[in-house]
Amino acid sequence: MRLARHALLLMAAAALALATAAQADETEANPSSPAAILSRADAIKGSDPATAGKLIDQLLRIEAKLAPEERWRLHYIQGWRATWLGDYDLGRKALEDVADNANNIVLRFRATATLINLLGIAHRYEEAFKRLNQLQEMMPSIRDRKARFMGLGEASQLLSSAGQFEQAEAYAQEMVDNPPPGDTICKGAEHLLRARREANRLQSIDPMFERAIEVCMNVGDDVFGQTMRADIAAFHLDKGRPEEAVKLLTANREAMRALSYPVLLAEFDATLAKAYLQLGDLVNARRYGLSAVANASQEEFMDSRRIGYEVLYEVEQRVGNAAAALAYHKQYMAADKAHLDDVSARSLAFQIVDQQLVARRAEVEALNRQNEILRLTGALDRKEAETSRLYIVVLLASLAAIVWLVLWLRRSQLRFMKLARRDGLTGICNREHFVEQSERVLAYGARSDRGACLILFDLDHFKNVNDTYGHATGDEVLKRAVDVCRRALHACDVFGRLGGEEFAVLLPDCSPAQARARAEQLRLSIAATSATQAKPDLVVTASFGIASTMPCGFELHRLLVVADAALYRAKRAGRNCVFMGDTGDIPDSPYLTEARG
Ligand code: GH3
Ligand code: MG
Ligand code: MG
Repeated sequence: MRLARHALLLMAAAALALATAAQADETEANPSSPAAILSRADAIKGSDPATAGKLIDQLLRIEAKLAPEERWRLHYIQGWRATWLGDYDLGRKALEDVADNANNIVLRFRATATLINLLGIAHRYEEAFKRLNQLQEMMPSIRDRKARFMGLGEASQLLSSAGQFEQAEAYAQEMVDNPPPGDTICKGAEHLLRARREANRLQSIDPMFERAIEVCMNVGDDVFGQTMRADIAAFHLDKGRPEEAVKLLTANREAMRALSYPVLLAEFDATLAKAYLQLGDLVNARRYGLSAVANASQEEFMDSRRIGYEVLYEVEQRVGNAAAALAYHKQYMAADKAHLDDVSARSLAFQIVDQQLVARRAEVEALNRQNEILRLTGALDRKEAETSRLYIVVLLASLAAIVWLVLWLRRSQLRFMKLARRDGLTGICNREHFVEQSERVLAYGARSDRGACLILFDLDHFKNVNDTYGHATGDEVLKRAVDVCRRALHACDVFGRLGGEEFAVLLPDCSPAQARARAEQLRLSIAATSATQAKPDLVVTASFGIASTMPCGFELHRLLVVADAALYRAKRAGRNCVFMGDTGDIPDSPYLTEARG
């Protein structure tokens, strides 16, 4: 609920600004009228819930005398307030009632926007996207600028979270271009920056964002301003400028801490930890890594938690503290899985709802055609007009096409389920699916006492490829490397992209010597092939680390840690080579002793 509170806080700020200015005139005209009390309650429901509660009680006593529209508005405020106070179910029911039945479209729109926020926080993504469809249907007729602004904000955030960046950006852009009276470019700019960064479409920081941060700070929307700073710092880090990331975050960290907003503080610290790790400052990397995981502990799916554990794991690996490295690696994998599960749940929900919508429209269309055919057949009995008969043939044909479309959509929903297991760029297993498959293979190996090996590899100096030739060429290089490897792999091997330019292959029924030979084969194939078709001279190499179940046992975590340590040695030895991992990489590990015994 903690996160919920914070997300609601954002909403509260928006809603607060919304109600105050809009209703000022009304309140002045007759401060004791139900309309004026309603406006006051609406305005302060987030900032002063106690007084708002009293006002609501006062209105409930005269509820019978309220006009229908006022009653709906009261109902909306009640629902909003219940969720704010933590009674999620009660609040949701009230808001659903308003969203579905209120007579005023602006109120329905506001309730729908609030619901989207709540459902997103509760991870009820399918319902959230259904509400988003309704919101989008109402959008063209919403002229109330404040309500529209709020709806755009919720829509933009939800779409961003499901990877629908283009639409998310368009909504955020409208918020920047046209903030209602009493509001500023701050919130829109924040949504816009986040969507652009997550879509990997940020090339440089537009001065507008710097201006927006200032505006946010001036009007008291500090959380939005600091979120933008977190994004800018992460952008510096992506671009290989860890010093700048550190500078920006340390300069603002104290102010950030004062906001008591652990979720965002965790983002600051995760980026700081990663930046310090890149700078080789292991002491600070550990310090901020620990802080990031502590602050992100409430929500196990959070990205900062995953990054925090990853940094902690690498720090321990580098200082040679193998047991701690292994323990952090386990936590990293668990956090990573939770994060990925949540990400794919969101985009899957979007796709499913989107397809359901298309399917429903097609079904309605099919029904219309059927009715039309029936009507015409009736007419035909009487007139037997040749043209009508022809028309029926056309209608039947289009009906068949629609039925086919509906069936196709149903099938492609299943395809989406499968796609969620694939890496979008290369088509091989994504990390999550790789882990799942490998664990299954390893469990089988353990039962049948057949050794297996894990090969981990990472393209060398890949950042240079991106920096020199651009991201699109980088993508092509990744696809090409994967194709080359695929040709050298067997049907039973599990091949996955663990992230960025790092890949893994699990080889079932394989000895260490065989694994080394297979890795050498992959290494030579990658190095011997031109990295892209367009630039035949560009050659990319990769470094390899191997772990075998023979000394390590059949637990995937342990294999990954050992192979990763070997890969690290291969990088330090000059790259483009294969290193065999050994149990020396995790000498004191309690897990290892347990496996040996
Ligand atoms: P090293 O030899 O030590 O591995 O150096 P490196 O440059 O390969 O390693 P580093 O991890 O610093 O850089 C990896 C780069 O990969 C940074 C990131 O921008 C890029 N990258 C990650 N995912 C993708 C992707 O999907 N497409 C492209 N084009 N680049 C990516
Ligand atoms: Mg690399
Ligand atoms: Mg890498």
